[in-house]
Amino acid sequence: MSDSAREVTERYINLYRNVPAARPGVCHICHSGPNDSSYAVCDGCRDTMKNVRRPTRHVVPVSLCVKRDDQLYDIVSRSGIQSQRRLGPDRTAFLAATISRFYSAHALCLKRVAGGDFTMVTTVPSTRSGEPLPAFHPMPKAIRMIAALKDLYRPVLWPGVGAAVVGPRESNEDAFEVMGRIDGKVVLLVDDIFVTGAHVQSAASALHRAGAASVTVLVVARLINPKHNRANNTIWTQACAEPFSFDRCCLCSTP
Ligand SMILES: [Zn+2]
Ligand SMILES: [Zn+2]
Repeated sequence: MSDSAREVTERYINLYRNVPAARPGVCHICHSGPNDSSYAVCDGCRDTMKNVRRPTRHVVPVSLCVKRDDQLYDIVSRSGIQSQRRLGPDRTAFLAATISRFYSAHALCLKRVAGGDFTMVTTVPSTRSGEPLPAFHPMPKAIRMIAALKDLYRPVLWPGVGAAVVGPRESNEDAFEVMGRIDGKVVLLVDDIFVTGAHVQSAASALHRAGAASVTVLVVARLINPKHNRANNTIWTQACAEPFSFDRCCLCSTP
């Protein structure tokens, strides 16, 4: 991790919120709150995983975020022209710094669930048609700023015939296509924000279909709605009550 990654993330350290480890009341996939705390998986993950043939069970968010009055959400979700008008950090530099610092602290946690060293890093492309990809998706640029990941980066995913129908909870087997075969690759799939997982689960299934040995998803922010159910409320209240630390993650902290 570079000194600038530490500097940027320290400057905005108060924006991050710790992601809880999987436990009763915390979804084992995305770490949000299930409707019933006896469920291991939340209703969003249940839906997005059942729509595709080969979803992944490994989703690792760096931070939680919420939609209202949350600067992390504003930074991570802002797009294109809008971002240039608003104050705050450069979005691409912020994403790169966050991923860089998290990866340098938790590469072993990620590799443990992946089943080995990563042999490919990729990102989820925009599925909005008619929009120039680079303007709306800073993630490829962010990955190229991270020394530990840039040499493994391959932009293999492209919108497929089912891209237009991906929506909240609507993952789709044909949403993405993979350019060529990626047999045996241990893939780290990086994205900015996880809402229901429709995009990353569609992408994970496409990567598996093309031969990936495993797909581990690293997202900067997991968006939750504390009003959705009691478990989400508990998770968010707890996350706001404690200081954030890059020394722990949802894989290595104790539940
Ligand atoms: Zn979930
Ligand atoms: Zn960890």
